[in-house]
Amino acid sequence: MRRLAGLVCGLFMVVTAQAGVVVEEVRTWNGPDHTRVVFDLSGPAEHHMFTLDNPQRVVVDLGADVPADAVDAIRDEGPIARIRTGERGDRTRVVLDLARAVDPEAFTIRPNQTYGHRLVVDLNKPGGGAAAPANDSQSTDERGPVMTAPDDGEFVVAIDAGHGGEDPGAIGASGTHEKDIVLAVAKKLARRVNDINGLRAVLIRDGDYYIGLRERTRKARAAEADLFVSLHADAFTDRRVKGSSVFVLSRNGASSEMARMVARRENQADRIGGVSLQDKDEELASVLVDLSRAHTVEESVGLAQVLLRELDALGDVHGGRVEKAGFAVLKSLDMPSVLVELAFISNPDEERRLRSRDYQRQLADGLVHGIREYVAATRPDLALEADQYTVRNGDTLSQIAHRHAVSVSELRRANDLGGDVIMAGRTLRIP
Ligand SMILES: [Zn+2]
Repeated sequence: MRRLAGLVCGLFMVVTAQAGVVVEEVRTWNGPDHTRVVFDLSGPAEHHMFTLDNPQRVVVDLGADVPADAVDAIRDEGPIARIRTGERGDRTRVVLDLARAVDPEAFTIRPNQTYGHRLVVDLNKPGGGAAAPANDSQSTDERGPVMTAPDDGEFVVAIDAGHGGEDPGAIGASGTHEKDIVLAVAKKLARRVNDINGLRAVLIRDGDYYIGLRERTRKARAAEADLFVSLHADAFTDRRVKGSSVFVLSRNGASSEMARMVARRENQADRIGGVSLQDKDEELASVLVDLSRAHTVEESVGLAQVLLRELDALGDVHGGRVEKAGFAVLKSLDMPSVLVELAFISNPDEERRLRSRDYQRQLADGLVHGIREYVAATRPDLALEADQYTVRNGDTLSQIAHRHAVSVSELRRANDLGGDVIMAGRTLRIP
């Protein structure tokens, strides 16, 4: 019966499609604060959204044809049990059957370089999510590490993996997505940060979903972060360009042509990731950046220099100095904040390296070493002792030593180690 209905619906679509807009694809992304449904449209289309109770449904009447097979496969995605479509005059009624209550929001986005016309339906967690009034002290995510309240005397490092969800970031020649690389490095870095007593990591994004640039800084502030590190791996028009770079916010323009270009690309993320047009005060927010923040920019430069030196020890560094540009994600942050381009994914050699777990681990090691050094220098009141470390598979003595800023011989002496072989699971004392 359903097959037949699908067939009839399909025929109907063929007849009317020429007159109107068609939904070419329906994509879903699950995040902790919201589940997003994206309708890729062949052209601009009108929409009207409303909700129904008992059972909970979100209904969208869309001035476009929606082929049934575009939504058939969507089942049990976050709060969505399934999606049905039906004819409604010259419109298509799209019904999202829900397993739990949501706070929905629908908006259209105009085409950009990556996507055409889109209708975005965000199913926000009730009482939280991007659309909620920003009450920074209130946690909207009891599930993840993002919003947990900091313990006293802990130094909180916000780690922001750039892009995510429908925004892949830069794409390498062999198809590597920036969003995947930076998430992998972010997770490794968070583990290492948490290994150090006195430091605690919060991941701004811990899965494949998009978070708006303003929402990223809001999350960092809600977590009472003391430091903000945004991770990227950008592309440049010239494939030969390579090396890591570390950027800080500048209100006085970019320090180089490359910095200008990188900032322009990174600032476009919201347009690709699909941020509601209701979020219009971005410009205003950036204008209101207080001049008293000058000192955090200075602190950011200090942090950036330490990180740059760490990355330099790993391989190429682009330009060899801290770059400055107007990054939206660093704006309105009142904590030292840097944006790290781990490498250029547009360079084939670097793309290959970025895919290697070993290199990702080295990057995380270098970054945590730099962060530790920076915190130790600026916050001597914090006793940053990583007194114990449990050896994981694949660890080497020199990696562990480097990560905790001690020498291999100190590590050997403290643990009565003769050779270089260490067993996974063994707990080492860090001198
Ligand atoms: Zn990026």
